[in-house]
Amino acid sequence: MPTALFSHESSLTHVTPPGHPEQVARIAHIQEALSQPDFQILERRSAPECSDADILLCHPQSHLEAITRAEPTSGSVALDADTHMSPGSVKAARHAVGGCLAAVDAVMAGEVGNAFVACRPPGHHAEQSTPMGFCLFGTAAIAARHAMERHGLSRVAVVDFDVHHGNGTQALLWDEPRSLFIGSHQNPLWPGTGLAEETGGHNNVMNLPLPPHSDGRLMRATYEAEVFPALKRFAPELVILSAGFDAHRDDPLAQLEWTEADFVWLTEQLCDLAATYCGGRVVSTLEGGYDLNALAASVAAHVRVLMERAG
Ligand SMILES: [Zn+2]
Repeated sequence: MPTALFSHESSLTHVTPPGHPEQVARIAHIQEALSQPDFQILERRSAPECSDADILLCHPQSHLEAITRAEPTSGSVALDADTHMSPGSVKAARHAVGGCLAAVDAVMAGEVGNAFVACRPPGHHAEQSTPMGFCLFGTAAIAARHAMERHGLSRVAVVDFDVHHGNGTQALLWDEPRSLFIGSHQNPLWPGTGLAEETGGHNNVMNLPLPPHSDGRLMRATYEAEVFPALKRFAPELVILSAGFDAHRDDPLAQLEWTEADFVWLTEQLCDLAATYCGGRVVSTLEGGYDLNALAASVAAHVRVLMERAG
């Protein structure tokens, strides 16, 4: 089966201020990398816009209205020190969510083996009523809820390997016993959450803080000792990846020392686990990654494994 690649041109119209790391050029670099000949067999699909009801799977109506109201008609508005909106930001965020939901639908229908969603803004820091960390809506958590509510799944794993803790996904799924949220991240690092003792309302959250300057060897040992056994106990029916690539050693926002080879290894392990428990159903959605060349190379390496494993 093919690997699907979901994208939408609205990702290019969410414009952040000059010098902001979460920039339009991230998507342009990814698109360039995935335009190379070995990616021709990707099944390219347009990421549809999500509905209000989709966003309300995880956020209150007041949050949707506040975000919609906050969008400027020109220029840029800052929601906090990190999180900005331009004309087109709401549309971009709605297509990012919609792309992830469509990826779940395609994988659940057996139309594709797995999927990567190359949209922005990212989502894993957005809490119920709080946009933050470049994020407006909790894309990965909404996709997990979508899989539960509309596909009837009762065990959805969300694995977040972005270098920053996915505080938003954790908050949105904290009281959701049908989900298992596992996050590895540098600590100390913004946003400061994600300590090992944060275990969710139903022992359904697992946090793996990693010290600054640690490399892929510690990551691999940690995943082998903690993450893979937890996933095997959970036996997921679907694996959603919050795929941030800012743990790369070249990333300017953090101090982990992972390489492309580490992202390859991690993707292989997670795909193999998904093959054992859920027919290989993996939906991977882009989160962070701010060195443009490292991001493009890491995404390409990640997607190449998805293609190999989709068979
Ligand atoms: Zn990040």
